[in-house]
Amino acid sequence: MKVALSQNCLVCKQSSNSAICHYCIADLTLFDIDRHHHNLMLSPKVSLGLTKVDFTQVMALADYQWPLSKLLTGLKFSKHIPNAHALATLFVRHCLSSMPVLPQLIIPMPLHKNRYLFRKFNQSIELTKQICKLTQLDMDTSIISRCKSTPAQTNLSAYQRHKNLCNAFEINVAAQRRLKNYRHVALFDDVITTGSTMNGAYHSLRKHHPSLKVDVWSICLTLAR
Ligand SMILES: [Zn+2]
Repeated sequence: MKVALSQNCLVCKQSSNSAICHYCIADLTLFDIDRHHHNLMLSPKVSLGLTKVDFTQVMALADYQWPLSKLLTGLKFSKHIPNAHALATLFVRHCLSSMPVLPQLIIPMPLHKNRYLFRKFNQSIELTKQICKLTQLDMDTSIISRCKSTPAQTNLSAYQRHKNLCNAFEINVAAQRRLKNYRHVALFDDVITTGSTMNGAYHSLRKHHPSLKVDVWSICLTLAR
């Protein structure tokens, strides 16, 4: 029976019965999640690029590369929601489907309030929403907030980023109380580069809940070259 082709692949634009066609999926170079027991910190390629972080677990779909980079920038700058759905589907299938224990909650990386009001869009929230739809996990966008407006991180050195982000997050009293209900959560960001943003958020969670297990997830990692 012929399958109805109702859409175009987001990558190659050919007719496809899924958001990314099976040819483009077959071309992707994804991390070997099973080999690293769902923790890419066990891969030297990854851990060598994340030497200034304190979290010990990280999981991502792939190195930051085409076509995932194209889908991520299309989501971030053009607010193209189908990209979020396609990336979340890949992430759930590749990273979460065989995970022995899933966290109770996903916390997407917040933008500073002023930046969010200006952009009215946070790609990490959009990706987390889609992951939660596919997994039935809960999302909480109000546990952590950014308390310091950090300048764009792109042009800063790793050390400057680290310093900048050390005290950049806060958890208000109501959120601290809510946090105590959890034993295991995941922090989610679209891309991890030096890991310093994640590290800041990780520390703010553990400061208020030292025994909390915090997984660190992203779609892509920028591997040290
Ligand atoms: Zn394709």
